[in-house]
Amino acid sequence: MTRSISIFGATGSIGDSTLDLIRHDRANWNVVALSANCSAEKLAKLAIEFDAQIAVVGDEACLPELRQHLSGTQIEAAGGAQALCDAAARPVDLAVAAIVGCAGLAPTMRAIEQGNTVALANKEALVSAGEVMTRLVAQHGTTLLPVDSEHNAIFQCLEGNNLDDVRWITLTASGGPFRTKTMAELEAATPAQAVAHPNWDMGAKISVDSATMMNKGLEFIEAFHLFPVGLDRLRIIVHPQSIIHSMVEYRDGSTLAQLGPSDMRVPIASTLAYPARMDTTCQPLDLATIGNLSFFAPDEERFPATRLAREAAHAGGGTPAVLNAANEVAVAAFLAGQIRFTQISAIAARTLDTYVPPAPQSLGDVLAVDAEARARAGEMLEIA
Ligand code: NAD
Ligand code: MG
Repeated sequence: MTRSISIFGATGSIGDSTLDLIRHDRANWNVVALSANCSAEKLAKLAIEFDAQIAVVGDEACLPELRQHLSGTQIEAAGGAQALCDAAARPVDLAVAAIVGCAGLAPTMRAIEQGNTVALANKEALVSAGEVMTRLVAQHGTTLLPVDSEHNAIFQCLEGNNLDDVRWITLTASGGPFRTKTMAELEAATPAQAVAHPNWDMGAKISVDSATMMNKGLEFIEAFHLFPVGLDRLRIIVHPQSIIHSMVEYRDGSTLAQLGPSDMRVPIASTLAYPARMDTTCQPLDLATIGNLSFFAPDEERFPATRLAREAAHAGGGTPAVLNAANEVAVAAFLAGQIRFTQISAIAARTLDTYVPPAPQSLGDVLAVDAEARARAGEMLEIA
């Protein structure tokens, strides 16, 4: 029986990996909506290849180009933030939330309201919305499957177990491209160096987040919402090989870990086939060639982002949305050559110091906190 799927952020790294899996399993899928921010030509090609019902660009200015590339086909074209949400409201068996940043929050919330299954890659949406999102998931009886490799690993390690029996959830972190760099080297780090991740091939924003360790900080908050064992039972360990994707230790002393190659198609496949399994063309894990797995405690002197995230998680309410928004602004400024690498976490810290947000009760409240935090972080760029 074929299943219907929509992919938001179809032209990105997660989108590519998802569509590659579907390409190899074509007969089982009916593609409804594909979206991009702009990338009209790539989006149109994918929509044609996968015979989508509708292609949507988030940036309305790119709609004429999308229309042009889709002319002569039966595929609908749409553009703008509202069009993204409307597309996310189309019922599907599985919606993949793979937009980067808080820009993906509103369409992800619409997909959740469908009450089917949402595969969540867009961690910034969950970090920002927190309980506003988890409440919506509960209210609609939606199945939320984590795509993020660590959370997918934890999800697999928890299957058949009871959260009350968990002693620790341990998120592994590769440590990124600057793991062994000195403070002076971090000061001088360039965008090109920051996006060159040793293990994973990812979009620019998450690559910079991996270099600052903010990615692990965001994932800490993501894990707190997905697996409610309490903040005191979540921890982070640096594991440079990215083979163990995360672990769960139980009160009897057993630790379950999920291992796999550093290939996002593995966790994505587990969400596509859930609760069954599907074939992938990923390289099998060759532990004899890998040889060693090593582990280190995180260094929060050089990489303060995980501390900022832990503090934001403890503060709760709108604070994680402030952290996320300030980080998005700072990462974009770093990639544009406006600020130094070490200023990314500094701007996030200062934004958190100067803005104590109200606790959001709705999507609109979250977006208002996000907007205010962006404005404040933007002002800090000017004095940075
Ligand atoms: P990417 O930059 O490669 O792709 C992002 C996608 O979102 C693209 O399709 C882009 O067109 C779209 N997009 C960007 N801005 C948008 C906007 N304002 N409105 C609408 N659409 C917009 O990013 P990615 O690496 O694929 O990451 C996507 C999400 O998945 C992120 O939240 C990231 O943290 C998460 N994630 C990625 C990986 C990975 O390996 N790439 C792993 C784990 C989690
Ligand atoms: Mg991850």
